[in-house]
Amino acid sequence: MAGYPSAVFEEDLHILRVGCCNWNAPLSPDSTAAWTPGLLKNLEGFTEEARRTNLHLAAFEADVLAACEVLRLGAKVDALDSGDLSPLALASGRMFDVTLLANTASPADKANLEKALQRFAWVVRILVEQHADVDEECNDLSILEIACSVRNWELVKLLLKHKAKPSQKCHSCFQSRADRDRFISIASSYASSSCPARVCPCWSGKTVPECHGAGAQPYPLTFLCVCGSKKIYQRCCHARSCWVVEEWVEADQRLRHSFLSAVSPVSAGVTESDEFKAMKIALQAIHEAGGPSKSREELLAEAQKSITELLLPLVSRGLVDPAFFYAWNQVDFFPKPFARKYSKHLCEDMQRRWNAAVDEYILREGDSRTRFEIERAAKIGTWNGALIRTCEGVGCTKVEGVGDTLLRKCAQCKISVYCGQQCQKSAWRAHKVVCGSDTQHEQMLPSQTAFQKAHEASIRSVPVAASQFAAWCAPLVSKWAKEGASGTVESLECRKSD
Ligand SMILES: [Zn+2]
Ligand SMILES: [Zn+2]
Ligand SMILES: [Zn+2]
Ligand SMILES: [Zn+2]
Repeated sequence: MAGYPSAVFEEDLHILRVGCCNWNAPLSPDSTAAWTPGLLKNLEGFTEEARRTNLHLAAFEADVLAACEVLRLGAKVDALDSGDLSPLALASGRMFDVTLLANTASPADKANLEKALQRFAWVVRILVEQHADVDEECNDLSILEIACSVRNWELVKLLLKHKAKPSQKCHSCFQSRADRDRFISIASSYASSSCPARVCPCWSGKTVPECHGAGAQPYPLTFLCVCGSKKIYQRCCHARSCWVVEEWVEADQRLRHSFLSAVSPVSAGVTESDEFKAMKIALQAIHEAGGPSKSREELLAEAQKSITELLLPLVSRGLVDPAFFYAWNQVDFFPKPFARKYSKHLCEDMQRRWNAAVDEYILREGDSRTRFEIERAAKIGTWNGALIRTCEGVGCTKVEGVGDTLLRKCAQCKISVYCGQQCQKSAWRAHKVVCGSDTQHEQMLPSQTAFQKAHEASIRSVPVAASQFAAWCAPLVSKWAKEGASGTVESLECRKSD
């Protein structure tokens, strides 16, 4: 299949690839393929109004590699353009036209056209194996009629196997009696068989029920990370022990990513916290029940309600800061430091949204504290712990940015901070236990600590309630809720807790 310039090596497809693997600024694999005028200016029919997708483009160009990739990214097999043409109908129609051209071409041109014909046939095969609608038509010819008229017996067989309906016109495509008989015998041999299962768009060579349909599988290490960082997964979220899996979503007929699911790709040497185990059990229960019984919106609302119920008494007791509570009511996630084990890209996105809400609170007035005091009590840093930290030395109250106080990180874990060696020494006895461990996390805001305590207590009293589990997934479920509606974006179902 080498020897043709595939779009998979081009910038435009890379933009799509990066965009489709990005939870923060997602791009639909079914976006109109007219947004790249540079590339498409010579391609007839690819205007904004035609609303053709990237799969249409791959079909039109007989670009086998691009067709495979956009299908893996989740492209709809049967997306219709404004003229109701599917990618399969488009590829078949082009195959028909190129066959006519090849019949009258010079020997040199003929060789090139025949190579193109092989690629068109390959694209048609891929689309049929992906369960594209085989009863689509192009220029009043069915796909099967086209396969008959170009004498591609492989495709004829494949189409009949996938339940394409033989018509009278099919018979008239064949001049010789031998060909007609051959067609009739193939048609009758597949008449009573059922349609083969769809081939898995991960291109494992297996069918969906044997592959991703049988359960979630780890996301390939060398693929772009799905957090939107533009790094390779192995060097991004995987290195932070945030495991991504791919699952087959029957309702959407596509693969979808989620952070850690019922299958546990937990590698040796990683300890599982009680909370993590609880999440796993909860997830398993959800899976066994055939998926969440509630809609995404309901799940999100429930998670937010349960967090608010925990926070309210803490606010009235002064344990959770009013600015912190205000911000919580503006956003759809609860900030929690994850010791840098979580995607930096997503953490920074949450930080930006959270701190903007705190700024909003400050502008509202009605709080007599200084801006610095409020920011210190409520703003979060890159890793979603406290933005303005206090020295962690025993009894020390020095605050970052006050006077000439500079805090230095512990050289080993690079997480704990001290104003000087004296303070680091004073804290070492307690710190050495957690330094660099899996349970360590960035310095939290007092409001976060208060919430964590209340939350842990509630987990102990109500073992593994689904709503508790949902509470931890609030930011993720919310993304899911927002973007799931369009059916174009990956869901984040859960993440590893620290
Ligand atoms: Zn698969
Ligand atoms: Zn990542
Ligand atoms: Zn100190
Ligand atoms: Zn340390």
